[in-house]
Amino acid sequence: MSAIDVLSARIGGPPGTQRRLARAGMAAAVLVTAGLVAIALAFILIGRHAAVSRAETEIAARTDLVAGQFVRALAEADRSLRYIELLATRGALTDEAMHPVLKRTTAELSQIDGIVVIDRRGGVISGSATSPPPPVNLADRTYFKAALADRSGGLHIGVPLRNRITANWILPMARALRGADGQVVAVVGASLSIDYFREVLGATLPAGGRIQLLRDDGIVMLREPAEDDAIGRDVAGRPLFRATAEGDRGVVRLTDDAGIERLVAFRRLAGYPLLITTGVLTDTVLRDWRLTSAVMLGTALALGSLIVFLAWLLLRGADRLIDQDTVLTEATRLLNATLAHMGQGVVVVDGGDRVVLANRRLPALLGLPDRLVQPGAPLDGLAAAAGLEPEVFAGAAGPEVERRLDDGRWIALQIDAMPGGRLVTLVDDISGRKAIEAELRQLVTSDPLTRLPNRRAFFERAAKVQAAMAASGSPAAVALVDVDHFKRLNDAHGHLVGDRALCAVADCMRLSVYDGDMVARIGGEEFAVLMPACPLAEAECTLERLRARVEDLAVPVGDDSADGGIIRCTVSIGLAMLGPAGADMALAAADRALYRAKSAGRNRVVVDGGPDPAASA
Ligand code: GH3
Ligand code: MG
Ligand code: MG
Repeated sequence: MSAIDVLSARIGGPPGTQRRLARAGMAAAVLVTAGLVAIALAFILIGRHAAVSRAETEIAARTDLVAGQFVRALAEADRSLRYIELLATRGALTDEAMHPVLKRTTAELSQIDGIVVIDRRGGVISGSATSPPPPVNLADRTYFKAALADRSGGLHIGVPLRNRITANWILPMARALRGADGQVVAVVGASLSIDYFREVLGATLPAGGRIQLLRDDGIVMLREPAEDDAIGRDVAGRPLFRATAEGDRGVVRLTDDAGIERLVAFRRLAGYPLLITTGVLTDTVLRDWRLTSAVMLGTALALGSLIVFLAWLLLRGADRLIDQDTVLTEATRLLNATLAHMGQGVVVVDGGDRVVLANRRLPALLGLPDRLVQPGAPLDGLAAAAGLEPEVFAGAAGPEVERRLDDGRWIALQIDAMPGGRLVTLVDDISGRKAIEAELRQLVTSDPLTRLPNRRAFFERAAKVQAAMAASGSPAAVALVDVDHFKRLNDAHGHLVGDRALCAVADCMRLSVYDGDMVARIGGEEFAVLMPACPLAEAECTLERLRARVEDLAVPVGDDSADGGIIRCTVSIGLAMLGPAGADMALAAADRALYRAKSAGRNRVVVDGGPDPAASA
């Protein structure tokens, strides 16, 4: 793996697999939700069945309870009627004899409101209410007629009717009393207490339901909740009544024309032509079930929605991750390509001074084997192999550093700190720039004709020497050298020859001074010499040697020395010491000495402030 390939590491698995996994998760979530809803629906259906069954059992029990109670009450009342019958057959068929018995019996039995004994023609013999009885004829009463007609001697229960005096409802029951000849002697009638039976019905009435007492021919005897105009109504044709024809007891489900369904339990009263029905609306029965179902279904749906929502979030997250991964992969590819094609070397090091990544240009630039820039390689090894201090990469030498490599090339390092203690270093080959810089510097600081340093270079160097002198206290000398009668030379041989002579004198002077001394051309045929760490006497000696060499110099007139003719030159030299006043002042002093040298006949060295050269000549 190349150092740079560390950037190609992927995040997670291949995008296709991730996407498939996320889609499968979503499908599973939808299935789980569907399963939850299905389970909830199953429970709801079972719950409905259970609720209806419970209601059926309950209304059947209520009906049985009422029926039992009614049978007992009727049997008791019937026993009283039989007793009165017995009294009558023993010949006590007068009001005086009957009234106290009727009155007492009525008072004792709460299910009976009144008892009346009627003769064959309908006239009242005796009544429980008053004595003597009111002069009314009951021959037209259906119960009376029915009792007369009945030859079996059984109990007759009549249709409900209104009391002629009080207009209250009467539930009549009657028995015909027959003599030995089979002829009816009298009819004993009793009025059953509406309030008593209503109370029993009311106590057993289920919430929101209806309970009624029917005669077995379909006549409504009583109904709870109380409906006055329902009493006496004939419901024989109604589905409810028809449904009860199936047996003595049972529970039926009925739906009316409006689509309202009800559950009805019925029970025949053993020994009496009566039956009890108890009905409830299925709607009422299912109220609790409906609430529970709504809660159950709501919970299942909410839970399912939550699961699907979470799965959707997961799916969306996966999609985003995959998109990001794709973007990242593309960005990494671009970055890799960019780094690989960069002209600069790049190295990133971590806080522990180990390579995190480097591009391919870096080892090529530093002339290193690839293994030294692999991720994890120590920075020390890299720096040492390149011939650099390790601190350079750590930025210790500054954020921008230039170094010369062993092979002579120059490199520039630019170090930037990154978050997390990492450092990025850009390495650039600046050899070309350095060469141009050197060339430029040469151009500005040297004289193109003689190749000697120029006036500017002289003064720069002089300033440095002066500063060093101030620090060390060592002396430095400055001299002005002027070619004698150069104008004549030019005039005699031409400017080109003059130039050649200038170059020859320049070379000669450069070779006549010590290393560290400087000869510069500061004017047309004027030169300056700077001699650091040089006392006056030594400087004078050096200059004297220089002067003598120039004097001995033979400059050929033509290009070719065979062309015949040579020129000789001499120079006059003024010498002064470089003082704290600076190079300008020192040169001025040297110029004064030079003037004196010229005046004294040229081709000599004169020291500023020294003895008169003319005198010594
Ligand atoms: P002196 O001994 O008093 O110094 O006499 P001189 O002729 O050397 O002095 P002067 O200052 O009168 O003349 C200097 C001459 O140097 C004038 C000029 O033509 C010549 N000269 C200056 N620069 C150059 C150059 O670059 N090439 C050539 N060939 N001649 C130059
Ligand atoms: Mg001159
Ligand atoms: Mg001159």
